[in-house]
Amino acid sequence: MFALRAFAPGFTAVLAALAAVSLAACRGEPPPASSPAETAGRPIILVTVDTLRADRLGSYGSAKGLTPALDRFAQGAARFTAAVTQVPLTLPAHATILTGLHPASHAIRTNDGFRLAAGVPTLAEALRARRYATGAFIGGYPLQASFGLARGFDRYDDDFLRTAGAVERPADEVVRAAAAWIDQHQSQPFFAWLHLFDPHSPYVPPAPFAAAHADAPYDGEVAYTDAALGRLFDHLQRSGLFSRTAILIVADHGESLGEHGERTHGTFLYDATVRVPLLVRIAGEAAARTVTVPVETADLAPTIAAIAGASLGAVDGQNLLPLLHQVSAARDAAAGDPERPAYTESYYQNVLLGWSPLRAVRTSRWKFVEAPRPELYDLENDPGERRNLVDDRAALATGLQRALPSSANGATVSPAPAAAGEAAERLRSLGYVSGSTIPSAASRAVDPKDRVEVWAAIEDGIDRAGRDPRGAQQSFERALQLDAGNGLAMKYLADVSFRAGQMREARDGYRRAIAAGFRHPDAFVNLASIAERDGRLDEARAALTEAVQIMHGDADAWNRLGLLEARRGASDAARRAFTSAMAAEPGRAEPYYNLAVIERREGNEPAAQARLLEALARNPAYPEAQYELGTGYLLARQPEPALKAYRAALAARPDYAEALFGAARAALDLGRTDEARRDYERFVQVAPPEYRQQIAAAREALRRLNAPRP
Ligand SMILES: [Zn+2]
Repeated sequence: MFALRAFAPGFTAVLAALAAVSLAACRGEPPPASSPAETAGRPIILVTVDTLRADRLGSYGSAKGLTPALDRFAQGAARFTAAVTQVPLTLPAHATILTGLHPASHAIRTNDGFRLAAGVPTLAEALRARRYATGAFIGGYPLQASFGLARGFDRYDDDFLRTAGAVERPADEVVRAAAAWIDQHQSQPFFAWLHLFDPHSPYVPPAPFAAAHADAPYDGEVAYTDAALGRLFDHLQRSGLFSRTAILIVADHGESLGEHGERTHGTFLYDATVRVPLLVRIAGEAAARTVTVPVETADLAPTIAAIAGASLGAVDGQNLLPLLHQVSAARDAAAGDPERPAYTESYYQNVLLGWSPLRAVRTSRWKFVEAPRPELYDLENDPGERRNLVDDRAALATGLQRALPSSANGATVSPAPAAAGEAAERLRSLGYVSGSTIPSAASRAVDPKDRVEVWAAIEDGIDRAGRDPRGAQQSFERALQLDAGNGLAMKYLADVSFRAGQMREARDGYRRAIAAGFRHPDAFVNLASIAERDGRLDEARAALTEAVQIMHGDADAWNRLGLLEARRGASDAARRAFTSAMAAEPGRAEPYYNLAVIERREGNEPAAQARLLEALARNPAYPEAQYELGTGYLLARQPEPALKAYRAALAARPDYAEALFGAARAALDLGRTDEARRDYERFVQVAPPEYRQQIAAAREALRRLNAPRP
């Protein structure tokens, strides 16, 4: 038995925690329900296509022939030519689509570290209250359920994200999952939301679209997504749903593809990213038409609620049904308000770097961008937004600026805790940067358009970091040549050094980034790893303490702090840290496991077993926890449950040497000699040399098992 105790493995290394912040609720009681419209009970399908530029659709003027399915769909739909997203970033844009609220109201400003607060009413909840079945089928990581958009959905299918490192799944798979769910629910009112992520970078269309668009892979992704949508439409036709379903198709934002120096999206508020395609087809309700007045993506939630006869409460968006009910096509131009100032904003660099936020309003003809150097464009005569007319048309600019929501509203975005560890890695693989800078007066005076090359260099570095560390390093160095105080570039440069094992450079880089105000939790966590490696435990502890101070909800940092305290022998401090990790993220198994190991070390066997069962309730396929549980049973002379636990450990990790040794021992106690022999034989094959003593014991056991009976 003693040999087994010596085997107890060290604490597991853990994946990083997702940063989760709970924002205060910002809404009061909703007003009483309105009377149901005549469309009530109609099935509703919302499709959000990520990163789809309006000008890639044939119905929006493209001659490339990328979107035959959408173009056919548009022939029977209302087509909005001036639909504006409220944020050109995936998570906040979808939060607006699914709540009807502007970002200042739902409080999600970027993809990183924000989550929808529990008190914000959602469209899905309102539909469920109208007895709609609600299903969401997600294509990309930024909309993972834990970010808060799942509330109100009976089924929120982001299952593909359970695969470690997964960031997206193809449109065909999303369509297939949604179609199966729709088939099951078509006898009742249902709301299905499909999120198709493919046009988002990286642009890697599948065959045959890759070959057909070899020199424009973004277009290839658009064409592939359109083909998948065509299969959805065919499916709905076959099941007879197409003719009685309200179908709304919108993009969460577009893609700059280099326009105005922007590679992707999120920074600027030009039409390449903020003007989105919007097609609405309510069979029998509205003939095909073109709507030219400005509308917002915030209008979708109240529109869908109105279709369902549901009540959403007070929102920032407007119900679009009156625009669709205009009977005569000739009256299109008169329908709605061409001067409606559709709102859009970007706080991406504000949160990351402390630079000035950008906010804009867009009417049918004009766009005003509020910035340190404000901009005014005549979209009718200058659709590429190249001639800034702010000096020529000062009165017009001032008038449009007044149409912006009060800036006190937007000026106080508190940086949310950044994603750390694996979550930050997943964001990086999609080209997003994570973290936040404490803004200063100087940083707030920076206009993002005056730093466009700095940002391009950072994005280039992010893009290369996974596959070309040397190139990434050069990009971040270039960003620092252009903007010497850029803490974000310092941190990402330090990451390159850290991954390359250049620990002195990494340490200096992280310290510089922190001094520059870029206080990313990964910087502190990696500083702690470097210090711990060098045996400077006090320094490691100080860094982790700092990490949990800036991000109290970082379960990973708490867990690491607990491991460090345990290593110093400070069991009570370790217990406190693991307990904080549990509170920060109750679903994580590792802190329970680690606490169990402490209890076992101190001889508290019942407590250890209880903690292991709690760990396994959270992750049944946790091999180390199964192994420790088996060992506890063996110590208590219960070989049967012990063997069961060891077998579970081995199911998750077949060559787990310690579990093979334990299983053999338990099998022997149960008189199951064939099993014991197999386990010992395998153990001898896979055990590392430092288990010399146990290998000798296994050989001795095998000799006895194989000896001819007297
Ligand atoms: Zn997006």
